[in-house]
Amino acid sequence: MSAEECIKNVLEMSQLAIEWNLMTGTNGNMSVKEWDTGIIYITPAKVDYRQLTSNDIVLIYPDGRTEGIHNPSSEWKLHKTIYQHMPNISAIAHTHSPYASAFAALNMSIPAVLTETVLSLGGRINVAQFALPGSEEIGVGAVACLKERNVCLLAQHGVVAVGKNAFDTIETALNVEVAAKTTHLAMQIAQPTAIPQAAQKHLQERFMENNQ
Ligand SMILES: [Zn+2]
Repeated sequence: MSAEECIKNVLEMSQLAIEWNLMTGTNGNMSVKEWDTGIIYITPAKVDYRQLTSNDIVLIYPDGRTEGIHNPSSEWKLHKTIYQHMPNISAIAHTHSPYASAFAALNMSIPAVLTETVLSLGGRINVAQFALPGSEEIGVGAVACLKERNVCLLAQHGVVAVGKNAFDTIETALNVEVAAKTTHLAMQIAQPTAIPQAAQKHLQERFMENNQ
């Protein structure tokens, strides 16, 4: 993927995140990693996502140098740490989408009570240990929580979704918000029950096949 394609992908992820109500203002951040060079293309700090253009995207080189007219997102260490520890990943979406973040606020995982939660997200969505925003520890906690999953919650903070391409990654960020919203609504009616173990295992295998 060329530099232009990487930048285009970051802009598309940002646009979809706004369109799907996953982000408002300058909340959240998106990045794509270029396979050949290891360069990370990331959204800038303090720029309204509705006004983002290709000139605003910041480059982070493997040696830590940055290039661009803005500072990188304040969560750049979260992105860099995940890419370092998960070499198959080439896109990351971090959002504060409200329903998923409500579970994060409670340090509560999103239970696997919908088949789609298992099929598209791998099962129960766990919460990474608490770490301060902007710290490297937040990335370390996320990596530990992303085993056999493409998304996790950041304790009392938000969501981080990872993937092998930009569209799948932002779609995962949408899927977790939908799962959180529907699960929340169900919990207003009664206590939802888990999907039977055998069915959950079957759906998990299909998830793994699609995400190898
Ligand atoms: Zn955040």
